[in-house]
Amino acid sequence: MTAFEKIIRHFERFPGIGSRQAKRFAFHLLTLDQSDLTELAELIRTIRTNVIVCPSCARFHSLQSPDRNCSVCGSTMRDRSKLTVVERDTDIDAIERSGVYDGLYFVLGGTVPLLDSQDVKRLRGGMLKQIVETRVTEGLKEIILGFSVNPDGENTGRYIETLLREQIEKNALKISHLGRGLSTGSELEYADPETIKNALKNRS
Ligand SMILES: [Zn+2]
Repeated sequence: MTAFEKIIRHFERFPGIGSRQAKRFAFHLLTLDQSDLTELAELIRTIRTNVIVCPSCARFHSLQSPDRNCSVCGSTMRDRSKLTVVERDTDIDAIERSGVYDGLYFVLGGTVPLLDSQDVKRLRGGMLKQIVETRVTEGLKEIILGFSVNPDGENTGRYIETLLREQIEKNALKISHLGRGLSTGSELEYADPETIKNALKNRS
């Protein structure tokens, strides 16, 4: 395989990118100045040291504060009685755009597919349990399940409720579903701010 083919192969692995788009990306690189290429290569090379996983919510963020928490988890302005569990980082951006949510988040790292429940191993279930334990001491009252409205999203909600059952009962935590305010089949990531605003208001 040539170096150019290898670049195409890497782009093909990106989410939502097919082989034609991967080729277009590779040819686009050839049109860039050498300085842009050098900068891009350097940014990719150092991405793991400049972008870290928040130890409290598991989202990726650029390392800024010494305590390694992201801007949401490190903020004293957020309502610590609410914790929304989402599938991926981009869901947080979608909810933040709605401008009405002031609680905390946790990124599960995926969903539990209805047909392959073995997939739970790659999720951050163990970390979520620990975080809930800590958050309870800080006044956590409600866990909001912020998953997309499809069979996998609903299955993931059931997984979380089972995983946290003991903690929910012991601490009388309220569980609510953000998805019940979204229309069937909608993905949180692509929902517009107004829809998310209504979903949050009507969560149950
Ligand atoms: Zn965080």
